[in-house]
Amino acid sequence: MSKTIRQIQRGLARGEFSSIEITQDYLTAIKAHNPTINCYITITDELALQQAKTADERIAAGQAQALTGVPLAHKDIFCTDGVKTSCGSKMLDNFIAPYNATVIENIEASGAVMLGKTNMDEFAMGSSTENSYYGPAVNPWDHQRVPGGSSGGSAAAVAAGLAPAATGTDTGGSIRQPAALCGITGIKPTYGRVSRYGMIAFGSSLDQGGAFARTAEDCAQLIQTMAGFDPRDSTSIDHPVPNYSETLDGNIKGLRIGLPKEFFADGLDSNIAGVLEAAIDEYRKLGAEIVEVSLPNSKLSVPVYYVVALAECSSNLSRFDGVRFGYRCENPKDLEDLYKRSRGEGFGEEVKRRILLGTYALSAGYYDAYYLKAQQVRRLIKQDFERAFEDVDIIAAPTTPEIAFKLGEKTDDPVSMYLQDIYTLFLNLAGLPGMSIPAGFSQGMPVGLQLIANYFDEARLLNTAHQFQQASDWHLQSAEVK
Ligand code: GLN
Repeated sequence: MSKTIRQIQRGLARGEFSSIEITQDYLTAIKAHNPTINCYITITDELALQQAKTADERIAAGQAQALTGVPLAHKDIFCTDGVKTSCGSKMLDNFIAPYNATVIENIEASGAVMLGKTNMDEFAMGSSTENSYYGPAVNPWDHQRVPGGSSGGSAAAVAAGLAPAATGTDTGGSIRQPAALCGITGIKPTYGRVSRYGMIAFGSSLDQGGAFARTAEDCAQLIQTMAGFDPRDSTSIDHPVPNYSETLDGNIKGLRIGLPKEFFADGLDSNIAGVLEAAIDEYRKLGAEIVEVSLPNSKLSVPVYYVVALAECSSNLSRFDGVRFGYRCENPKDLEDLYKRSRGEGFGEEVKRRILLGTYALSAGYYDAYYLKAQQVRRLIKQDFERAFEDVDIIAAPTTPEIAFKLGEKTDDPVSMYLQDIYTLFLNLAGLPGMSIPAGFSQGMPVGLQLIANYFDEARLLNTAHQFQQASDWHLQSAEVK
């Protein structure tokens, strides 16, 4: 069942199976295993079979496009026309989006089939999917453990073989961290590369859509359809999108890979460090040159992120007022009661905690001390990277400080949950593109290697990841549900 996009495209082209058949196979597997994995919030079976039928007609007519007939899953943060778009929240449990996000529009235009919408932490706030209103998804490698978050449903679906690939979003690590914990490949492009139109906002200056797949080759294809300028998103950047698949096979001899000395020091689990050292050795064998770099301000990324992201979320989530979207409390006494109870009943605990902290950080008298200060340090973090990229082409780092933790282990300790992102947050603060690729195992659980490239250098990132995957088979290990 666990096919790659590339394998499905070949099978469709050779007539080994139709899109309806492969879609039906996935839907059958999803129906059988979603009750345990809980990676889908909504299964769009009727729509999927309709889209598959159209895809088969197009293939028969010789009009196939890039992803024609390939089934995919979408994080439930992307608005999907006529389909429930919950963002993992009770607040939007009744919300049927009236339009498609640009990402969905682009993927549909390339002929793909939508299997359903995947589980996630409420409003993308979390690192385990335990903040989902629909209950947590589980890690397909060990059902007692979390799949990571916030895009944990997408990662679990791909790892379990319940989708060949999926979309996700990454505000502080939500693609790279679940990809690492579920043993798959994930890419977060440069900020502004993929349109945020119709992607429900959390931290607008950090949010970026991206992809999960088994291979870098598949990520290249998916990102190709997602990327590009969108006049409907004011932060979308008009920068040419190269053909990512064309440069995958390029030799990486002489590629300069920087290892930030701060990340391979204390705090990193020793088994994970061992796995990553072996992966770096593999790059040496491929001819890359490994050098040390320094990102001295990256240690400040957790406090900076938790000021900036929370301030922005308090502003973004003010639109959920019980009037315009989603949940409305019963029998409000007056307008104030309507606001208070709709928000009080509709949002979960973590979202409320963040709105409160963010509102505080933005309030008069505190703005300079917190938000402004955080933005200044953010600039220093960005400058660290600019300096490092004068010397190297790629930076390699751990994706997570530990393997997937047990469900419930960190739910009472938000700070220890926040610390899961120590190796991923700085990337979003700087706006850079990054990936996580499977690099090995520790205690039977997958470990990810994070690769970081300079702005708009996704092609080099994908090439660097693909070359590793040509030389290793970690990405082929499967937690597929039987
Ligand atoms: N885990 C981080 C948070 O809770 C990042 C989430 C994300 O990237 N959406 O904010």
